[in-house]
Amino acid sequence: MVGCPLPVRAMASVDLLPYNLFSRHLQERFGEKIFKVTLDAGFDCPNRDGTRARGGCTFCDASGSSAQVSPPATPLDEQLRLGMAGWQRKFGEKARKFIAYYQAFTNTHAPVDRLREVYRAGMEHPDCIGIAIGTRPDCVGEPVLELLAEMASRKYLWVEYGLQSAHDQTLARINRAHTVAEFVDAVRRTRGRGIEVCAHLIHGLPGDTPAMMLQSVDLLASLGVEGVKIHSLHIVKGSVMAGQYLRGEIPLMSRTEYVQWVCDSLERLPWQIKIHRLTGDALPHLLIAPEWSRHKLAVLGAIQQEMRRRGTRQGSGVRSLTPDTY
Ligand code: SF4
Repeated sequence: MVGCPLPVRAMASVDLLPYNLFSRHLQERFGEKIFKVTLDAGFDCPNRDGTRARGGCTFCDASGSSAQVSPPATPLDEQLRLGMAGWQRKFGEKARKFIAYYQAFTNTHAPVDRLREVYRAGMEHPDCIGIAIGTRPDCVGEPVLELLAEMASRKYLWVEYGLQSAHDQTLARINRAHTVAEFVDAVRRTRGRGIEVCAHLIHGLPGDTPAMMLQSVDLLASLGVEGVKIHSLHIVKGSVMAGQYLRGEIPLMSRTEYVQWVCDSLERLPWQIKIHRLTGDALPHLLIAPEWSRHKLAVLGAIQQEMRRRGTRQGSGVRSLTPDTY
């Protein structure tokens, strides 16, 4: 199981899901359930350390949007061991194979020699069937992509690019400090190297209308990414948005609105795109709002129920698009 830890009873019905769940793809590919261990490799972010900008994305907290719970500075091998042990306490002998997920901050923001050493923990662990690397689209130069391609020839490898919105005015408003064009360029340069690409979107960002959110989805569909993560805008302690929200400057969508926009989004994504996640991953003690986003199972259940009510599934509304027509 990947992303949010759903209980076993919730996994029993994945074959009936109206979308192409990543965890089901993993189970089919590797013959058993795969669990994800999130890691904090101690990176910084070019949007915080001045390489690109300072201050960070306005939704991001001091942990670099990490859902990882090991104490800071825990060696990566130990983080892996602790994460695997946590899944094994919960799922017993079923938890045997894992993906090492380099999640916190920007996990390609270092010289290639350091990256190679950091990735060693996941690449060499015999129980890791793959690794996933979260990063920014402006932080994957040719030497980094060459390293990732070499790793992908030896191990199942995903790179996860945060886009959040395919609208430069929205990216500027949330201080993303990269452009849509840089994202498109990164995806195109990553293709053909054996690396699977997952793109992240946040629905409900300030300034993004429902039509704009669907244009973001259409861009991902036109680029042919292999995976997508979508979550609703949530406000966490320590972020710039926390202050904006508390001053009444950031409206948040209701669960009903989010469910509608996610269903609209799924209908526009071709079936072959794996859906990695449809809910947020904020640590519970950091989440300020919306309260409904704490209840992931209820959100997922409402999405599935709405698609069944509509009689649609992922890809049922796919249009013919190319990045150039976007
Ligand atoms: S969300 Fe990612 S890119 Fe933005 S400031 Fe946080 S770590 Fe950096």
